[in-house]
Amino acid sequence: MSENGDSETLKRGHEEGGEDVGLPKKRYYRQRAHSNPIADHCFDYPVSPDQMDWSKEYAGDLADRQVEFADIGCGYGGLLVQLSPMFPNTLMLGMEIRVKVSDYVRDRIKALRVKYPGDYKNIACIRSNSMKYLPTFFRKGQLSKMFFLFPDPHFKKAKHKWRIINDTLLAEYAYVLREDGRIYTVTDVEDLFEWMTSHLSRHPLFQRLDDADMKADPVVAKLFESSEEGQKVSRNSGEKWCAVYRRICDSHSQG
Ligand code: SAM
Repeated sequence: MSENGDSETLKRGHEEGGEDVGLPKKRYYRQRAHSNPIADHCFDYPVSPDQMDWSKEYAGDLADRQVEFADIGCGYGGLLVQLSPMFPNTLMLGMEIRVKVSDYVRDRIKALRVKYPGDYKNIACIRSNSMKYLPTFFRKGQLSKMFFLFPDPHFKKAKHKWRIINDTLLAEYAYVLREDGRIYTVTDVEDLFEWMTSHLSRHPLFQRLDDADMKADPVVAKLFESSEEGQKVSRNSGEKWCAVYRRICDSHSQG
């Protein structure tokens, strides 16, 4: 599949325009907004990517492929549902720390697969703390896209260390992303946008896309309204800031 997706397979998501009949209702899965990403939670995680059995997560003939897109802090899964029909042969994983929210996404995907047989086989969600376990799930250079849509802003200075873009974590993101892979960020908090872009821009392995490159990427248009948080910001007439970065070649790894 090309960067732009196969135009034959580009189709509108079944769920566009709101909650669908027969799908789980968010009101039964509510959980307080913020979860402490530093605290110890009880998670199952593989000791290394080789130990992960993805066939439990993905349906049918796709199950032996590798995950390529990761939606970090996927919330209620709106982006995964939107991107699924655009890239039907690409496995995408949402990582979500909140148990009820990840349960919702898993139930949503199960219900979509029943309701639309043959579709949504390529998306899955696991409950995990991506700040701790990313390299146990993904090999070096495995991912082609990582999404950070409306990450928790952690406004207080003492909590900035909880922000999901920071120097230490960028080293992990550069590790799991392949060359030319992309990081997509959107937020409605200007201060967080400055934080994310300043950290990414000064990192030697990431280069910001210019406006023309952003326009040429069909995923960019989906970043603003697909996710539940993006829709909430729109309902409240909030502003949104978006930046996309390319994982560039590591000159030290060239022979
Ligand atoms: N991206 C979604 C959207 O746009 O609707 C959700 C945005 S919400 C403000 C941020 C989400 O990231 C929350 O659902 C939160 O539980 C999740 N999250 C925060 N830290 C995380 C972590 N370390 N690992 C996985 N998920 C995390």
